[in-house]
Amino acid sequence: MIANPPCRGVAQNDAAWSFAAGPSRLPDAVLARASETLFRRDAHGAAAIERPFTGDHFREALADAQTRLIRLLQVPEHYRVLFLAGGAMHQFAAVPMNLLDPAAGLGRAAYADSGYWSRRAMQEARRHANVTVAARHAGSTALAAPSLSGWHLPHDAAYCHITANETVDGVAYPALPDTGEVPLVADATSCILSAPLDIAKFGLVYASAQKNIGPAGLTIVIVREDLLQRPATAAPSPLHYGIQAAQGSCVNTPPTLAILIAGLVFEWIEQCGGLTAMGEVNRRKAASLYRTIDASNGFYIAPVAPGHRSITNARFHLANHTLTDHFLDEAERAGLAHLRGHPHVGGLRASLYNAMPEAGVDALIRFMTQFARRYG
Ligand SMILES: *Cc1c(COP(=O)(O)O)cnc(C)c1O
Repeated sequence: MIANPPCRGVAQNDAAWSFAAGPSRLPDAVLARASETLFRRDAHGAAAIERPFTGDHFREALADAQTRLIRLLQVPEHYRVLFLAGGAMHQFAAVPMNLLDPAAGLGRAAYADSGYWSRRAMQEARRHANVTVAARHAGSTALAAPSLSGWHLPHDAAYCHITANETVDGVAYPALPDTGEVPLVADATSCILSAPLDIAKFGLVYASAQKNIGPAGLTIVIVREDLLQRPATAAPSPLHYGIQAAQGSCVNTPPTLAILIAGLVFEWIEQCGGLTAMGEVNRRKAASLYRTIDASNGFYIAPVAPGHRSITNARFHLANHTLTDHFLDEAERAGLAHLRGHPHVGGLRASLYNAMPEAGVDALIRFMTQFARRYG
């Protein structure tokens, strides 16, 4: 048990906060528990991270992590949960390799374009599949996810892929599109576990761990059982969903350290009240930051349309771009790190995953208010 998880965060005098998009902060309680329990040798001469993945000890830890994740997300019975090595980009290739089934008339992949990561996913899919762009945001002024109606889904679409939360652009879908019989596949890397997610709406959800789950190296795949029937002849065994499901995610050595820490994170989320409680805190954090930006008389600008703004990756910039480097220097000195936007879009970005307590967001808001007062 993690005693008294500081879910709300405590104001520490020496506090420094990392707003990195990934790898990102881990909860303080998890970091402390990991150092106590994973790296110390027991009476049998092995630390948790030194145990073989085929042994009972690791198998039990994996099963425990899986059970907790299923409970948190209320994963329905007809889904399988896989703990795979690699990142979300491995899934950019694995999804078409596993789900296309030209012999059954499913020879095409549909992708919605909502920003940077959906385009990267599409680009990778084109190496394996004929790709149709199902939807894209018709560019007005503010950034937004594609409209939820009028999607183009070809009759031979094996699946339709969305990026549920665009980490770089700071764009999130306000609701899910209705893709009918075509299985909806989501890259949920930067929003999984930030709020409840209705798994039953998806054919498949994947997320690499280093944003909101744990350390890098692990990717979670939640897949509806009927999709495991597709032949996937070209998929290498470690990325073959059916083979991994049949072998309990242990076709080869899984990322054991990342899985052990993910298990601690799941336990911490349960102790914080589960995903409903997480969602409330996360919405509150994002709302107070966006409120500060919108109330700054144009000193700070959030370019994403309200209603499409990510609660985990808040993107903004200074109206006076020449102050950006100065803002970042001063923020760093005030203990607020990694606020630079992705090089692809520039500006600023604050990633507010589960492990960022409200105290960290409050510190950022105080700094931003003072900075605007001095330079506005
Ligand atoms: C970070 C990120 C990726 C890339 O993940 P890797 O694990 O580095 O391959 C893909 N999609 C989204 C939405 C991301 O946030």
